Amino acid sequence: MAETKRDYYEVLGVPKNADDAAIKKAYRQLAKKYHPDMNPGDAEAEKKFKEASEAYAVLSDADKRRQYDQFGHAAFDGAAGPGGGFDFSGMDMGDIFGDLFGDLFGGGRSRRNDGPMKGANLRARIRITFEEAVFGCEKEIELTLKDDCPTCHGSGAKPGTNPETCPKCGGKGRVMYTQQSLFGTVQNVQTCPDCHGTGKFIREKCPECRGTGYVSAKKKILVTVPAGIDQGQSIRIREKGEPGTNGGPRGDLLVEVTISSHPIFQRQDVNIYSTAPISFAQAVLGGTIRINTVDGQVDYEVKPGTQTDTRIRLKGKGVPSLRNKNVRGDHYVTLVVQVPTALSGEAKEALRNFDSLSGNTLLGPNGEAPKKKGFFK
Ligand SMILES: [Zn+2]
Ligand SMILES: [Zn+2]
Repeated sequence: MAETKRDYYEVLGVPKNADDAAIKKAYRQLAKKYHPDMNPGDAEAEKKFKEASEAYAVLSDADKRRQYDQFGHAAFDGAAGPGGGFDFSGMDMGDIFGDLFGDLFGGGRSRRNDGPMKGANLRARIRITFEEAVFGCEKEIELTLKDDCPTCHGSGAKPGTNPETCPKCGGKGRVMYTQQSLFGTVQNVQTCPDCHGTGKFIREKCPECRGTGYVSAKKKILVTVPAGIDQGQSIRIREKGEPGTNGGPRGDLLVEVTISSHPIFQRQDVNIYSTAPISFAQAVLGGTIRINTVDGQVDYEVKPGTQTDTRIRLKGKGVPSLRNKNVRGDHYVTLVVQVPTALSGEAKEALRNFDSLSGNTLLGPNGEAPKKKGFFK
């Protein structure tokens, strides 16, 4: 990072063990003091305000605060952070203002309009097969993206003309008016009704984009699905969302993944489950069976005397971990002993002999009770 960042607790002037209420109170005081609407044109105040807002955004969020306590600023330092880092660019400070200043400013939400703002995120969905989720894949999706209008380069003004400063708000994008409230006279801030917050007034609109500054076009985007992705998880594709404003970056595209069910495999986290039939003779005598896995068929040696519903484990034949694709889950197979249903007379005779040799007697052809013999005699 270019400059050394102050400790967030120091910024807010609270002890490390401050509770949520104390953090909120400290931020509220700082924000009131340094809020840009209270200090127009004061760069130092704006810097202090942003610093306090960032500190508050982290310390008021239990997860982020825990990460910060553990790793310090490194927790949010892009890819270098142990947790992958937090992305502050997409954070909507407006939500914090709305929450905090709603009462101060009489319910009007204050939103800065003259700084670069990241564009909104877009959402899309893809459906992939079970195997594609296990091994990863690439999918092309088509979606309609807004782009700067090539005719006016995003200004919205007819070529040869320029947008003018909005006369109502003087280019600020917001207007202030005083209002009487319970707390006395308060300054109320509102988005400029004439320019809708852009601070610009377009006298002659660009004919191509009708003054919006944007055109929509269908775009093909390649989505790289990582091996091990699970049902309902999303892939973030940076800067493929809506365009930012005032030079801000585009929002992100979030692609939610739906995985089609598989005819024989089920999945739970990184493990795969299936069943495999074994014959009665294989269950009794043991033998080699072929089992379908996501890696193809593997041979498995069934032990003599295997009971039905015995579960075996094929180590490392499961789903790769999203965190480390070299680590794979296991494949559990439930062996189901098949009871033969259509036997020839000869096979039935052999089975009766087997049963009688085992010490049992089958019911007679007319349903007579078995005559006990053998072991139970
Ligand atoms: Zn245009
Ligand atoms: Zn205006």
